[in-house]
Amino acid sequence: MTLPLAIRKDRDLLVLFGLHFVSPYFAFLPLVRWTSFLCPHCDAVFRRDYWPSNVRLGCGERICAGCGRPFDDGSREWPELGFAQKFRFYLPPGIQAMTGGLLFCAIFTLIIAPRDVLNSPTVVVVVSVFLAPVFVWCLVRLLWVQRSKHRFENEPYAMQSKMET
Ligand SMILES: [Zn+2]
Repeated sequence: MTLPLAIRKDRDLLVLFGLHFVSPYFAFLPLVRWTSFLCPHCDAVFRRDYWPSNVRLGCGERICAGCGRPFDDGSREWPELGFAQKFRFYLPPGIQAMTGGLLFCAIFTLIIAPRDVLNSPTVVVVVSVFLAPVFVWCLVRLLWVQRSKHRFENEPYAMQSKMET
């Protein structure tokens, strides 16, 4: 059985106010733009994403809280994702920006540090300390990936529905 796909609607506050021409410049701001996902049967919103093409892990099937009918919410299990989607799952745009900012801070710290204390171990420690939040984020993501792989391998129904789509 092939499930109907969730309806995706991109919303943009600036477009709502007739400011289409500035919209691309503010695309990075959450709340200014978002994507709503709706049940294809009754149009009930079941999710809002502030990043376009967010990668979600799951078997894909979701039961609508409004009408109780099943549909495909667009989520896929880890083994079904392509490389770009896997990368995006670990480092979504917000985390990419944060990584860039933290790296910048780490490099700035290294630049202003006295030359005599700078050596390879110090550089590794400074960069690791600054990037610690990113490592923690990736560790949490790794847990999600493990759970997704586990579901993919142990829930034949989820796999079967994928084969048919
Ligand atoms: Zn519904």
